[in-house]
Amino acid sequence: MGTDRRRFMQLAGAGALGAALAPGVAGSPVNGGARARPDYDVAVIGAGVFGVWIAHQLRQAGRRVVLLDAYGLGNARASSGGQTRVIRMGYGDKEIYTRWSLRSLELWESLVGRAAPSSIFQKSGVLWMARGEDPLTTTTVATLARLGVPHERLTRADLESRWPQIDFGPVTWAIHEPGSGFLVAFHAVQVVAQRAIGAGVAYLQEAVMPPSGRGGLSAITTRSGRTLRAGTFVFACGPWLPKLFPGVLGERIFPTRQEVFYFGPPAGDDRFGSPAMPVWVDLAEEIYGVPDFKGRGFKVAPDRHGPPADPDSLERVVDPASLARVREYVARRFPALRDAPITGSEVCQYENTSNGDFLIDRHPELENVWLVGGGSGHGFKHGPAVGEYVAARVLDGKPVEALFSLATKARLQNRTVY
Ligand SMILES: Cc1cc2nc3c(=O)[nH]c(=O)nc-3n(C[C@H](O)[C@H](O)[C@H](O)COP(=O)(O)OP(=O)(O)OC[C@H]3O[C@@H](n4cnc5c(N)ncnc54)[C@H](O)[C@@H]3O)c2cc1C
Repeated sequence: MGTDRRRFMQLAGAGALGAALAPGVAGSPVNGGARARPDYDVAVIGAGVFGVWIAHQLRQAGRRVVLLDAYGLGNARASSGGQTRVIRMGYGDKEIYTRWSLRSLELWESLVGRAAPSSIFQKSGVLWMARGEDPLTTTTVATLARLGVPHERLTRADLESRWPQIDFGPVTWAIHEPGSGFLVAFHAVQVVAQRAIGAGVAYLQEAVMPPSGRGGLSAITTRSGRTLRAGTFVFACGPWLPKLFPGVLGERIFPTRQEVFYFGPPAGDDRFGSPAMPVWVDLAEEIYGVPDFKGRGFKVAPDRHGPPADPDSLERVVDPASLARVREYVARRFPALRDAPITGSEVCQYENTSNGDFLIDRHPELENVWLVGGGSGHGFKHGPAVGEYVAARVLDGKPVEALFSLATKARLQNRTVY
């Protein structure tokens, strides 16, 4: 039995879990530095999509949880901070991510019920454009079929008749996932956080200082000087993880600058919003897009990794050269948007592991500290499944799959998960 498990069983035996909780800071037992019993069972540091779901799941399991974020819930610097994020089931032969997408969609929908239209999930469909025997798309078809995920395999003629506003160029066929779509990212993070806080999770806007030492961590301190004691600490700090743990993660998580552009369709033209336009992915050109949602514009985003980025100091202004490249693509693929104005842009960062598999593991020297991140440009959709998975490991000490372990996170980037 691991130390965490023993600690939790002692806490559970002590009873009164949650009895002293308040749905916020006021009255919650935050400053009890001198007490033997930790103030909280678990402190979750980072309230991006991973952190809010972890806190939510741990609270559902009856634990006393505090959630902290340096910049606030759904903040614009966080990787989870954009307007929309794609949720698709296709993952080539990486079946675990298809399973996690399926499970996550269930949990996302359960937050707001299945009534359409949902404020969190938009079922626009997802279209994977392919050329010839592209292996990722071909293996995706096989995985979707094996797991019974509804999908259509469309010919070039099908594509042209269904989406005449797209010039498919060299695309020869496609997969359409009619049950997938996109999540309203920033809003979704806030909804989960509010649910968690409403259920008794304490929330603090505080920057946590990098922890140090060996063995067990008893407390964290914040930049403002506050001390919080907890039994277990989960650091879900996305692209900030290498700054908090430079020795362990400095060379294992690679934050990269990523840009998103919104193009304004012509007045009265609804061909670039849902339901006329699905989410689309053009793998060969490493670019994807999301239909116009709430008038923000037709989103187009290169998926190729950009230059290294520091999430604290990154200037979030797009590069004119990137815009020119994206415009050239849009003019080819969506001719009606050739002269469309930019209605908005976002500069964000991916927090890539060496191959794109998530990081979910204990700190190698601090036994009650968990490191969770490495969303690698595809993590948002999986927030609910990551929350369930991490909560189960923290509570029951179950081992983590090798693909999520720190040991599999190399120092050289070689992306295999898309
Ligand atoms: C442009 C872009 C497009 C993407 N598209 C998709 C997509 O279509 N589909 C998809 O599934 N995924 C997508 N992703 C990936 C996905 O958004 C991320 O994998 C996911 O949001 C990562 O969440 P996180 O909780 O790990 O990190 P974050 O959202 O970055 O959250 C980390 C939090 O930790 C806080 N923090 C950091 N340091 C401290 C500290 N010292 N103390 C307290 N708090 C701290 C930060 O303020 C932040 O709020 C995209 C990412 C980007 C950037």
